[in-house]
Order: sequence, then C-alpha cells, then structure tokens
Amino acid sequence: MKFQHAICWIRRDLRLSDHRALYEACRVSKQVSVVFVYDETILKKLKDRDDRRVTFIYECLNEIDKKLRDKGSALITVKGDPCVEIPELAAELGVDGVFCNRDYEPAAKERDEFVGDRLKGLGISFQSFKDQVVFERLEITTQAGHPFRVFTPYKNAWLKKVTEEGYREYRPNLKKLSPLKNINKFVKPFDLKSIGFEKASLWIEPGEQEGGKRFRKFLKCVGQYNESRDFPFINGTSGLSVHLRFGTVSIRKLVKGALEQDSKGAQVWLSELIWREFYQMILDRFPRVVEQTFIPKFNQIKWSGGDRFFKAWCIGQTGYPLVDAAMRQFNATGWMHNRLRMVVASFLVKDLLVDWRKGEAYFARFLLDFDLAANNGGWQWCASTGCDAQPWFRIFNPITQSTRFDPDGKFIRANVPELKNFSNKEIHFPSKCRKEAQLKAGCLIGKDYPEPLVDHSTQRLLALDLYKNF
Ligand code: FAD
Repeated sequence: MKFQHAICWIRRDLRLSDHRALYEACRVSKQVSVVFVYDETILKKLKDRDDRRVTFIYECLNEIDKKLRDKGSALITVKGDPCVEIPELAAELGVDGVFCNRDYEPAAKERDEFVGDRLKGLGISFQSFKDQVVFERLEITTQAGHPFRVFTPYKNAWLKKVTEEGYREYRPNLKKLSPLKNINKFVKPFDLKSIGFEKASLWIEPGEQEGGKRFRKFLKCVGQYNESRDFPFINGTSGLSVHLRFGTVSIRKLVKGALEQDSKGAQVWLSELIWREFYQMILDRFPRVVEQTFIPKFNQIKWSGGDRFFKAWCIGQTGYPLVDAAMRQFNATGWMHNRLRMVVASFLVKDLLVDWRKGEAYFARFLLDFDLAANNGGWQWCASTGCDAQPWFRIFNPITQSTRFDPDGKFIRANVPELKNFSNKEIHFPSKCRKEAQLKAGCLIGKDYPEPLVDHSTQRLLALDLYKNF
C-alpha cells in the first residue's frame, strides 16, 4: 500500500458510489477517512440564513454520515477555511495523502493549489481526479488542439470520444474506511444552527438515494424528453441539475443510462449533459467569463435599464404574465424550468435593457442548482455575449413564448393567481383585454396586476440598436 492513512475530501461530490477520489484513496491506502469542510469563506458570502443550498448539503452529509456509520466509520466535518483546516486536520490525523475530485471554478482551483502546496510542505501528498465530468480540460479539442468555441463540433467530438474510449464505474472499497475508534475525537456533531443557518424547505429530496431514485424514474420517460422538455407545466425534464451540482448522482451513470436508450428523447437529453460539460470546459479554459463577456466587444455595452426595472423583474411584477409567473415560482422555490430561464433572462436583457450580470447574480443567490459554469453560460447565451450564444438579433417575444409553451395558461394560473379567471387566450397578455373582460375576470390591469412595464416592440428596436453599434 502506498498510503497508510488518507483523507478523501468531499466537496461537490456528495455520494459514496461511483466516486473517483474515494475509489482511488481506497485503492492505494490502508485506511481512508472521509472529510467535509463547511467553507466559511463561502458561507460568509451567503446573504440568506435559510439558504436552500446549505440545507441540501447538510441533509446530504447526514445521509453520508449514516452510511459511513453503517460501515463502522463516520464523516469528519469541520467548519472554517479549507486552506487552513485541511492541512491542519491532515497533520493531526497523521495522514500521508489527501484525495479529492477536481472542481473547475476559478476560486476552487486557486484553493486547491494553495491546499496542495501547504500539504506538500508538510510532506503530505495531494491528489485530485476527474469525476465531475466525463471529459475535462483539453481532452476534447479542435484538430489544432484548441478548446472548442462552438457547441456542435464539441458535442460531435465528445460523442466520438465516448464511443471510442468509453468510461468506467469507480466502486470504492468501503472496507478501507477508517474505523470509528481511530477517528472518534475528530467526529463532531454539526447542525445547521451551529454553522449559522436555518433549515429551508426544498422542492426536491436531497441525497444520493433520492438522486438515484429520480434518475431511474426519469429514465422511464426519457423517450419523450424531446417533446415534453419545453413545457414548464409538464414534468418533462429530469430535475437532476441539483443532484448534478452537488454530485449526489454520478455523471457517468447518467451518460450510461442515456447511451443505453435508443430514442430521440435520450439523444436530446444526452446533448444537455454535453452542454453542461461544454460550459464547465469554457469556465475552466476561459475563467475571464466570470467577470467579462466571452465576446470582448460586448463588454462595452452601456445597459440603460434602471433599478426600477430590475426590481420589478425580481419580484415578478413586469406585467408580462409568463415572466412574472416564472420569477414568482423561482422566488418561492429556488427552481426555474430551462425554457423560463431563457425567457426571463432574455426579457431582462433585451426588453428591460438591464446588464445580464445583475440577473446572473440574482439567479446565483437563489437557484438551488446554482452552478457557476452553467449559470454564466446560460446568461451569456441569452445576452448573446457568450460562447456559441444566441445571435444578438434574435429576441424572444415574451407573449409568443407564453402562447407556445404555456398554451392553456396553466403555469401562469398556478403562479400568478390574480390572472386565473382570464381565458386561455387572454391570459398571456391581459392588458390587451377590454375593461369589461378585466372586470369579468375580477382583475383590473394597473390595479390588481401591473400594466406592462415596457412595450416589447419598442424595446426590441432599442436592444437591436444597442448591439448593432459594436
Ligand atoms: P434536464 O433538461 O433534465 O437536463 C439534464 C441536465 O443537463 C441538467 O440537469 C443540467 O445539468 C444539464 N443541462 C441542461 N441544460 C443545460 C444548459 N443549457 N446548460 C448547461 N447544462 C445544462 N443549469 C444549472 O445546472 N445551474 C445553473 O445555475 C443554471 N443556470 C442557468 C441560467 C440560465 C439563464 C439558463 C438559460 C440556463 C441555466 N441552466 C443552469 C441550465 C438549465 O436551465 C438547467 O440545467 C435545467 O433547467 C435543469 O433542469 P433539469 O435538471 O430538469 O434539466
């Protein structure tokens, strides 16, 4: 055995099965202790004491601890700055190796480099592995060896590579887990209060077991994904983004499940998983996207939309029912369907002319599945400033989107109850209705529901002008 005692430091990989770092640690070590750090440098930045992500993580860790205890071990949980805590704990435990799975966010890469250096100084090995994606870094490149900037050729190269090389499952040998007696003094009980948070209600069940259950259920209807995925009122998508974000499902298992199905729906769904990897790769290779537009010239756009517009958008009071329904559901749950993310993002940027970064930050604060790579990629796509983004002259019409993707107004009725009595035709833009129709529906526009904040056709021209100049 190469290592006497190793730490497997879990971060956004909150599961025990098909776990690369845990597998590798168990393979080459006599005993392995599983460790999680509640990172205070991140927790301090969170504005909401009932942040849903913290509750999700907390519940996942409870599940892991329970599973580890069933195997005679336990989870070691620490609170603080991982740059300090991991080297200190490693030294106190007397380990000779720290294993983890790679994270491609700039701050995480910096943290890992720092931790690696500190451990090296202590004579402790630091090893990181690919786990969060099937292909990372420069594994998928153009023939010239550059990162792809366009999705379709990236996807084709990805599919070719996955067919040629395949991928494998990493089943950790859990017999190697440190016996509780060896680590007992480091195992401390943690509750949300002790880390300064309150329990939030979640729209989705946390944990590896629930992630697996959701995936198996979704696989039974993935064949219809291509037809149902665009309708917010239908459960046509997997809802696995939160589990992917926190690693309570393995991307390899998901890809395997999709490849084994012979249907158009499964192919389209696999494409979405590849979009996820595309944006991870973009963030890894072009970290400047965190601060800047991917297409440099669009950094110069002066967004004229003021605070009043942004606030109305945030609280779902724009007078555009589908936008408002999406934002209100989002505020209540931390969830938004992909079609709606595109509609509200496009509306904020190209109708209200508000800087996309403000919308990106709002999503980052409340999305339960918030993922820097996908969120930044999604916002830059909608704002037409990103890598392989929607062309700037394509502007979603929020009313057409509403009639196409919520034809009976079911989604609107569920989230904007004051509009519930309008007919299926009227509900998409009730301000167009005559006073009598408004009275009949029991909702006066301008009193019970806002007048449209802006006129779409006017704003569309203003937006085109804004982009045209660059
Ligand atoms: P499914 O349709 O079942 O897709 C399966 C998986 O593929 C998803 O779970 C997700 O991991 C991945 N995926 C799907 N679409 C995309 C996409 N366009 N880009 C990258 N990955 C994708 N996704 C996040 O996970 N976190 C975010 O913070 C996030 N922010 C977004 C912001 C905007 C403005 C937009 C337009 C999209 C954003 N997305 C984000 C992508 C997408 O909306 C969500 O992944 C999807 O809605 C999650 O639902 P699902 O799990 O049912 O997806």
